[in-house]
This record gives sequence, C-alpha cells and structure tokens, in this order.
Amino acid sequence: MQQIKNYINGQLIEPASKAYLDNYNPATGKVYSLIPDSDEKDVELAYAAAKNAFKEWSITPKEKRSQYLLKIAALIEKNLDKLSLAESIDNGKPLKLAKSIDIPRAAANFHFYGTGILHYAAHAHSMEETAINYTLRQPVGVAGCISPWNLPLYLFTWKIAPALAAGCTVVAKPSEVTPMTAFLLSELCIEAGLPAGVLNIVHGLGPKVGNAIVSHKDIPLISFTGGTATGKHIASIAAPMFKKLSLELGGKNPNIIFADCNYEKMLSTTLLSSFSNQGQICLCGSRIFVERKIYEKFKTDFIAKTKTLNVGDPLNENTKVGAIVSKTHHEKILSYIDLAKTEGGKILCGGKALKLNGEHADGYYIEPTIIEGLDYKCRTNQEEIFGPVVTITPFDTEEEALKMANSTIYGLASIVWTENLTLAHRIANNIHAGIVWINCWLLRDLRTPFGGVKASGVGREGGFEALDFFTEPKNVCIKL
Ligand code: NDP
Repeated sequence: MQQIKNYINGQLIEPASKAYLDNYNPATGKVYSLIPDSDEKDVELAYAAAKNAFKEWSITPKEKRSQYLLKIAALIEKNLDKLSLAESIDNGKPLKLAKSIDIPRAAANFHFYGTGILHYAAHAHSMEETAINYTLRQPVGVAGCISPWNLPLYLFTWKIAPALAAGCTVVAKPSEVTPMTAFLLSELCIEAGLPAGVLNIVHGLGPKVGNAIVSHKDIPLISFTGGTATGKHIASIAAPMFKKLSLELGGKNPNIIFADCNYEKMLSTTLLSSFSNQGQICLCGSRIFVERKIYEKFKTDFIAKTKTLNVGDPLNENTKVGAIVSKTHHEKILSYIDLAKTEGGKILCGGKALKLNGEHADGYYIEPTIIEGLDYKCRTNQEEIFGPVVTITPFDTEEEALKMANSTIYGLASIVWTENLTLAHRIANNIHAGIVWINCWLLRDLRTPFGGVKASGVGREGGFEALDFFTEPKNVCIKL
C-alpha cells in the first residue's frame, strides 16, 4: 500500500512517530494509502528547515524565485493526468472535474504568482522638499499554511504560491482527508530543484499538526482555509500571539433569481452552482431564492434537470456527481436532510444515500437533493451543510430577497440573476458578501480580491492582496 511521506528540508521522510493513518478512497470506502500521523516534532523539524532556508530564499532575486515557480507550474501541467487521477481517487470528485478545474488551477496558481511577483512594487511618498518616504515590502518569515479537503491541490497551492513568490518559506499542512496531491507536489518540487527547506509539507491531523503550526511561537503568519469553527479556534490561539492571520472560512451562499433573468443560462448554471463537486465548494449557492412569478416553472425545470445528473463512480466519464469526501461528512449531510424534514421541509428530489453496486457498494454517495417549504431562519437555511443539498424559497420583492440572503452569519459569495443592470448593481451594493457573481458563477480572475465578510473570514487572498499579506511593509523616511 502506498505510504505518503512528509516533505521536510528537501527530503521525503517518515514521521517522527513512525505511525500512519488510513487514507480512504471515498468512492469505494476502502483504505488505499497511508498518511504520516505527524506531531509537533515533525513541525519543529519543518520549522527549523524553513527558518534556515529563509536566509537565502528571502534574498533570492524575484526573477530566480519566479523561475522556480514557473518550473513547478510546468511540471503540474506535464503531470495533469496523474494528478487528476490522484485527486479524484483521494477526494471522490469526478475525474473530469479534477482534470478541467482542480489541477489546471493549481498550475495557474504557480504561474500567476510566478509572474505576478515580477510586477509587484511598493509605494513612495514624497514630502515635497522636506523628505521622501519609501516602503519596503519584506517577506514576513516562515509562513504556516493550512488547507481543506474540498479542492485539495487547488487551495493548497493558492496559499503556497504567493508565500513562496513573496520570499517567505513555508510549513504547510494539507487536509488529512485528502493528502495525496500535496504529496505528489512535494515530488515535483524536488524535480524542479526547489532549494531544501523552502517548502515543507507535514501531513497529519488538524488538532496535532495544524495546532502545532498555529501555536508555534516563531511562525509569525498563518494562512488558513477551512471551517468557521476551526477558524475561530485558530484565531483564539494566533491573535494573542499577534500573528498575521488570513482566514477563509465557511459560507451559506444565496443564489437570487429574478423573473427577468436569462432563464436557460440561469438554469444550467444553477445546476452547477448547486451540485458541482457534490456541493462541496465553499462558493456553491445552497440557498436558492426565486421570484414568485417564475417559482413553479423553475421548480419543475430544476427538478427535471437535477434528476438527469449521473451520480456514481468518479472515474466514469459520464459521472456528474461523485462520492462525498468521507464517511463522517456523508453522515453529517444526511443528518441535515433529516433535520430539514423535522423543520417542515419537503424533499422535492433526492434526499437519500445512494447505494451503488460492486466495488463501489461501500462508497459514500448522496443523491442531489432539493428541499422546499422551509423558513429562511431555520437551521437548514442558516448552517453550512457543504453537500449536494439546496433549498428553494420564493420571494416577492427585492427587499425580501435581500433580507433572506443577508440573514445568515456568513458572507462569502452570492449569485444574482437578472437582466436589469440597475437592480443588479443595487443588490451587489447591498448584499453581505465578499464576492458577487451576476449572471454567472465561479468565473474567476486571479487578480481580484477573494474572501468573505462576517463569519466567512478575515482578509483577502488573490492578486497583490496575497503578496501584501505575505510581506510586511516597512516605511523608511529620509530627510532631504
Ligand atoms: P476544517 O476546518 O475541518 O479543516 C481545514 C484544515 O484545518 C484541515 O487541514 C484540518 O486538518 C485543519 N485543522 C483542523 N483542526 C485544526 C486545528 N485545531 N488547528 C489547526 N488546523 C486544524 O475544514 P474542512 O477541511 O472540513 O473543509 C471544509 C470547510 O472549509 C467548509 O466550511 C468550507 O466552507 C471551508 N472552505 C472555505 C473556503 C474559502 O475560501 N472561504 C474554500 C474551501 C473551503 P484535518 O483535515 O486533518 O482535520
């Protein structure tokens, strides 16, 4: 059985404990590889390597750092098939999705920051004839990067690439649920000749490895993507230590559909924004609000389209909805469907675990589920489910739609469908979200600020914002 290794100081090594955890293939429910059960000893080793490498890496010319990043991007592209297959097996997502979205985006992250750093500049502030101020942007130091399981390599590299580009060295932990592509990335970093210690990847459990990174007294910066409860815990440790903190957390995103929308475009995109990646994308629109005039038509058409989605083996070409990432998460989603029923929800389609045959009989599958008839304030409509489950609710006025959309503790993304430009601008202005998609979904320009408001996070990733995060501004004032 394949044994994943930690990547520390340029080497693939065993965890200090020599202990391993089981890694499951969610499509079959079977253990298929082993993950290092690392602890604070491994984090300490990784930190020592990163600290040592920082001396050189932080003063390596940006052109040279750029070359390493571009080389890694090219290697990811070259290994597209291998990485996509690994991601699909590890996570349960359709292979097609991994190949078209996850892995190309991981390469794009390295490419974007490999070139972005060449255009990154600091400011100067002239005090006319009195003095001149200039700002130095210096890499913060050893960065701690912690990422979730839903878009494993995509989100892991979204942190690592800007950190390395900015001149930080990194101690990173991928989710223990989906460690495989981070392991394969460490092999590619070795192939690219990335200097030892610049990137260190420590595998293992959040409360052990993640916690050791977050509470390490000499790691001054934490970039975290994951659930809001974990983010809260991390902030409680990192904030009193005055660490720089970027938190990309959960969401409960509204998808607001007005009657004047481009109906066919809306319908096909809403199918994607509801069920892509089994609904396990922090940007999915899980609360669908539909103007009453078209509610019944939408309901009929949306149910019909949802029923055409093939749920099954992620490696099958025709599969649109693969396996849920883990047994625990599978149970959590089903418990929310039960909760929805007790809250008075009517299951319009799906609503059950799906049992497949043969080698997939023990896999974790759930039918894409649509629920109606729920109050917008109930738990099903307020808490993040993070699965192939959406609710639909009619509205009569713009004010009502906004009131319901803004009613949760979250504020990550939002989707609006209308051909009325003025209305679209007004909603964009008034909605509580860091990202507003009008007449589209998941259309991404990597230069834009990415992140949420309220309990969806603190800070922004993307573009130069990430390079600002991984560098510390220092003002130098020279009297003329
Ligand atoms: P978790 O918060 O459970 O885990 C995220 C990462 O944190 C994992 O690597 C996890 O390790 C680690 N971790 C867990 N406990 C601790 C701890 N005490 N200290 C330090 N690290 C810890 O999130 P999930 O992996 O379940 O991901 C799903 C969540 O991520 C959803 O809420 C989703 O909305 C959010 N998300 C947000 C995005 C955004 O951009 N805002 C994007 C994608 C997802 P381990 O896996 O070993 O437990």
